[in-house]
Amino acid sequence: MTQPSVRTQVAPDTGARTETPALEPLLFELHREGRSGRHIRDEASDPVPPDFARQAPLGLPELSELQVVRHFTHLSQLNYAVDTGFYPLGSCTMKYNPKVNDRAASLPGFADLHPLQPDETIQGALRLMCELQEMLAGITGFAAVSLQPAAGAHAEFTAILMFKAYHHARGDTGRRRVIVPDSAHGTNPASAAMCGFDVTTVRSDARGNIDIAALEDTLGDDVVGLMLTNPNTLGLFEERVREVCAAVHKVGGLVYGDGANLNALMGLARPGDLGLDCVHINLHKTFSTPHGAGGPGAGPLCVTAPLEPYLPSPRVRRNDDGTFGRSLDHPDSVGRVRSFLGSFGVLVRAYTYMRSLGEEGLAEASRDAILAANYLLSRVRSTYQLAYERTCMHEFVLTAAKQKKQGASALDIAKALIDEGFHPPTVYFPLIVAEALMIEPTETEPKETLDAFADALLRIARRIETEPGTVRDAPLRAPLRRLDEVGAARRPVLRYRR
Ligand SMILES: *Cc1c(COP(=O)(O)O)cnc(C)c1O
Repeated sequence: MTQPSVRTQVAPDTGARTETPALEPLLFELHREGRSGRHIRDEASDPVPPDFARQAPLGLPELSELQVVRHFTHLSQLNYAVDTGFYPLGSCTMKYNPKVNDRAASLPGFADLHPLQPDETIQGALRLMCELQEMLAGITGFAAVSLQPAAGAHAEFTAILMFKAYHHARGDTGRRRVIVPDSAHGTNPASAAMCGFDVTTVRSDARGNIDIAALEDTLGDDVVGLMLTNPNTLGLFEERVREVCAAVHKVGGLVYGDGANLNALMGLARPGDLGLDCVHINLHKTFSTPHGAGGPGAGPLCVTAPLEPYLPSPRVRRNDDGTFGRSLDHPDSVGRVRSFLGSFGVLVRAYTYMRSLGEEGLAEASRDAILAANYLLSRVRSTYQLAYERTCMHEFVLTAAKQKKQGASALDIAKALIDEGFHPPTVYFPLIVAEALMIEPTETEPKETLDAFADALLRIARRIETEPGTVRDAPLRAPLRRLDEVGAARRPVLRYRR
């Protein structure tokens, strides 16, 4: 019998995964007629009434139980995760998620609640949500918070709906345009368009900030608002953020803060103090709840007092008598955007993370994230070109334009990193940087990992100088070589056909 196996190991000090995982045969290919997983032979009292019993076999592969267990265990070992190796995927904040967060979320008092239970029986859960709202309001500098949105993009959509409601409440119904910088995450223009608005793109200047002159040229009384990411997707702090906000406010517009990059700001700067009108937080990035592969996230929305009436309903609140409750009496609310009160398991994890680090610990996490990114940058910046010559925040964007001329692109470098045992960084984003490599190491990686990753990037650059063809051939040590990534997403093959 062939015994497929995956021999993946993690080098203890470097965060790199070594050795080549083998490709799994499909269960159908392991099938042997008559083989069975059933080892309980007592059929004396058959519990299935004959009317309900299946008449023809199901056509499933016939395997022993052990084979099935090994098959799925090996498949699980093909996964690449923060828990198995370094994951510098820029813009995604793939930091380590402490296990205590999961432990707290699994406590029966949280995990076994039913969302339709009356308020008086879920006081602990409501209190947790209320305190989380207060902590998030504190760290962002805003007056009110909704925990309902399920992700960053969902919070963007919710906020633009709120902007619309805010303007309409003033009889100001002629505003049609949302302004988005050209460095923005694709969800920003998509959210504005989904709310029925036109999108105006504004270019970035030579330092990677939004170009203020270009912004002022396009501002007018038809502007709903601006969507601003700070630090932006280049990993750079918007140097003139206060001026930008003032210019938008001057024409009656509002400023949306895309706070997906809050990992660089916790305890160091508050979006509410910088002039923004709201900000969303990706709990699944900054506040350390596991994410990726479409699992549940949470994108709480924090707003100023003038926007509070439009927040989604129901809201969670602290009553005057010290109890906690859900309130539905919000006539100006944009309504409900999520079933029940949000992704509760994610909220418990984020709460646990914040309470276990404390205010000083969160500030230290941001400082360490900035330090890790700048250290890694300092090791590679004489070999790869930096898109904008500035000190970075928690991530940085290189351009492999030089390497491309030598014969290997950003994509080739990403694939070569797989052979080096690392998850590749984000490539070809932001769109304004040619051959972009967007690297976010996060604060949780030890220096040994940062050094090993820098060494790998430098080795690849040397290979490109002398034998770029070998880099174009990568990966050689992955279970599959180059995939049709667009086809895999758009036309997935989900059925086994012999
Ligand atoms: C991740 C991210 C988003 C979208 O967040 P989701 O939770 O994936 O919807 C938006 N903007 C930026 C800058 C991001 O990094």
